[in-house]
Amino acid sequence: MADIQDVHVLVVGNLHEHAVKRLEENFQVTRLSKADASALPPDDAQNFRAIAASGAVDAAFIDALPNLEIIANFGVGYDAVDAGHAGKKGVMVTNTPDVLTEEVADTAIGLLINATRELPKAENYLRAGKWKSDGAYPLTRGSLRGRKVGIFGMGRIGLAIARRIEAFGLPVSYFNRSRVDGVSYEYHGSLLELAGAVDTLISVAPGTPQTAKAVNADVLKALGPDGIFVNIGRGSTVDEEALAQALKSGTIMAAGLDVFADEPNVPQALLECENASLLPHVGSASQHTRRAMADLVAQNVISWFGEGKAVTPVSETRHVTSGR
Ligand code: NAP
Repeated sequence: MADIQDVHVLVVGNLHEHAVKRLEENFQVTRLSKADASALPPDDAQNFRAIAASGAVDAAFIDALPNLEIIANFGVGYDAVDAGHAGKKGVMVTNTPDVLTEEVADTAIGLLINATRELPKAENYLRAGKWKSDGAYPLTRGSLRGRKVGIFGMGRIGLAIARRIEAFGLPVSYFNRSRVDGVSYEYHGSLLELAGAVDTLISVAPGTPQTAKAVNADVLKALGPDGIFVNIGRGSTVDEEALAQALKSGTIMAAGLDVFADEPNVPQALLECENASLLPHVGSASQHTRRAMADLVAQNVISWFGEGKAVTPVSETRHVTSGR
């Protein structure tokens, strides 16, 4: 086996510096601000055998690198990488599951409480001096007490959120592509049926063609006027226009959103909704967790060229082998 120090790795996007450092200790690293074939160093395309990516990697870019073997994605959600195309071409794709699960579940709970009990608005009230001038912050219409929580996407993070909701003393039900073994939560066969059975919906589904705009006007209507919607998964899973309309018209009570369809652009209609608590995609964004994700990105590339196998392959490329 050739020395792995000779392997050329392309770092794409604004990848966590700890991942870059670990890759530089092991490989020949070239950095590119985005995966654009025209920005590749001239005549160099055939040298690159790996991509470590924070950002989009499309089919055209994969095709532009004839000797590409692995794309290590920074993040558990890999909707920005064309993993289906990679899989067909025998290119491995990896993501960063598990190491961020508890952090993201914590953030989901924070968003849920912010949206329900208006904590960001109450803090702004204090900072604006209104506690002194106007008296106590008004009692919130929303409360977690008595709520029924539905989870859309009962995977690793969905289960971690469900455990937290259970500790709050609230019932949990869910909709997932398939029923999850070994849990007692009530299963619903469609998202619409789930929304009709609960008043609090937490979406942690991945962004895929099947989940695109799954949370639509009908789902929000089914959630009802006391409805709280939290999205910690992907913005693409929501019809944002319908959501803004539902928030403005009182079709639902409030929302907590960490993710948006066209980040970092947040629709003006959502910005105008006072009953929406909005975060700039910070689900996993602590130094602790981002470093663990960076380690896993580097470890996937190191393991691929050192041991001949990836640590955390995504389902579309699980069949891909290194041949070493
Ligand atoms: P996961 O373990 O793969 O869970 C995803 C779940 O969604 C699986 O149970 C899957 O069902 C289900 N699912 C997939 N397609 C579906 C569909 N069409 N209809 C219904 N259910 C469907 O992933 P995870 O680690 O929990 O992460 C979930 C997502 O959270 C990621 O994909 C990412 O987009 C998002 N995320 C956001 C942040 C943030 O900062 N806000 C951070 C991390 C992750 P099966 O069991 O049938 O496959």
